[in-house]
Amino acid sequence: MRPAGFAAAVAPAGRCPFGPPGSPRPGSPYTRVRLCSPSLFSPALTRTPPAAASSGRRTWPWLASSEGGTGVTRSDPLNMTLFGPPGSGKGTQAGFLVEHFGIPQVSTGDLFRGEIKAGTELGQKVKTYLDRGDLVPDDITLKVVRRRLARPDAGRGALFDGFPRTVGQAAELDRMLDQMGRRMDRVLFVQVPREVLVSRMAGRLTCPRCGRTYHPELAPPRSGGLCDVDGAELVMRDDDRPETARRRITVYLEQTLPVLAHYRQQHVVSDIDGTGSIEEVRGRILRAIDGRRRGDGS
Ligand code: AMP
Repeated sequence: MRPAGFAAAVAPAGRCPFGPPGSPRPGSPYTRVRLCSPSLFSPALTRTPPAAASSGRRTWPWLASSEGGTGVTRSDPLNMTLFGPPGSGKGTQAGFLVEHFGIPQVSTGDLFRGEIKAGTELGQKVKTYLDRGDLVPDDITLKVVRRRLARPDAGRGALFDGFPRTVGQAAELDRMLDQMGRRMDRVLFVQVPREVLVSRMAGRLTCPRCGRTYHPELAPPRSGGLCDVDGAELVMRDDDRPETARRRITVYLEQTLPVLAHYRQQHVVSDIDGTGSIEEVRGRILRAIDGRRRGDGS
């Protein structure tokens, strides 16, 4: 059964800031009809200043300028990191955030899988690490990220996902952003109790073609066991079984906590309660981005 919160995400026609409901973005697994909730789009959040629209530059008027007070239009690129253990709903929220802010998702896991699929030399190098579930060495990971950030769409900023995963990567990312005249604006840490994570992952179904995930109760597919995006038959990944799920969560938290400590020192971490419906979590994330400016702390 579809939970009440999920149904509430359907926006009335014409209310969605990205266009009419039901118009999927090419290449995106997220259809507007399922993601738009009028309550999430306050005028302050959805306003696109005419200057920005005509110049093609993105502005973030809802974010306070770090130099000035609230309400100062900010035209810097927006750089954020989404942290969350497997099963925290991070992937679902990332899909929404990239559309909402118009910034690309920079997922090192996806970049590595792309290299492996394309059969590149780098792909061959990283495959053994991915197969074992080990971290790819920092120098290779940073090379891939540096290359991704040099692409034109990253000029607007980036939503990092699965990166940085070590303190070394975080320190080097700081340097990279600094060289580009940027900085990490916000680190969103989506927290969910361990047992909730395990039960969420235990029922999780994945589309083998596009990678989108579903859950029989929390995020059911529209028709039976088929993917909403491409109609492929959904499968349960081996590593979503309860024993493996517990292990992945432990490994993730062990790796992640030192990186969070690095960003806590910079006062850019927002702790997000990841329990509740997709829309509730999304609302908390948007409020965290809206209400915090660098230096305010978490
Ligand atoms: P993910 O899709 O983020 O779970 O990543 C899948 C795999 O890619 C991980 O298990 C690692 O082997 C590798 N990987 C992804 N991101 C990183 C990173 N930032 N540093 C090192 N290895 C990574």
